[in-house]
Amino acid sequence: MSVDALLARLDGVRRTGPDCWLGRCPSHEDGRPSLSIRELGDGRVLLHCFAGCAVADVLDAIGLDFDALYPSRAIDHHRPRERRPFPVADVVRALAGEGLIAAIIARQCVDGYPLDPDVHHRLVIAADRLLAGVDAAGLDREGERIRRELVKKCRGAAMDCNAEAATHG
Ligand SMILES: [Zn+2]
Repeated sequence: MSVDALLARLDGVRRTGPDCWLGRCPSHEDGRPSLSIRELGDGRVLLHCFAGCAVADVLDAIGLDFDALYPSRAIDHHRPRERRPFPVADVVRALAGEGLIAAIIARQCVDGYPLDPDVHHRLVIAADRLLAGVDAAGLDREGERIRRELVKKCRGAAMDCNAEAATHG
């Protein structure tokens, strides 16, 4: 299947580079485009939802399966593998909003507003998305370090969330 046929099934698609697009993810309530689409030189298509949807779910939502990500002709395996499948600029763009959300929540805490479970849950989602972004950008040593830190913080936050949920019944 061609990338054009796939793009035609998505909403809010805009080109972000020579073979890269961002569009609304069909698999979740996507207010801002968070689905990255990239066509590789050999005709394969990479999908990544920065909100964390599985590729199978994204395809399922538009009535496609994994075959849609492969070209009809045979793949040329002699081409070098892509080390960073997604342009860093796309990742940063998609995640900037998550950083903003975290900053707004932090400001509210400083101003003395209570951190209710819904808001806390949103923070955990932001941390998850940041993690997904670190993964999608490709990891060097610094990336690995940031990822470990985020995982630690995510685990802590998730535990706090569960404790809160238990307290609130
Ligand atoms: Zn999604």
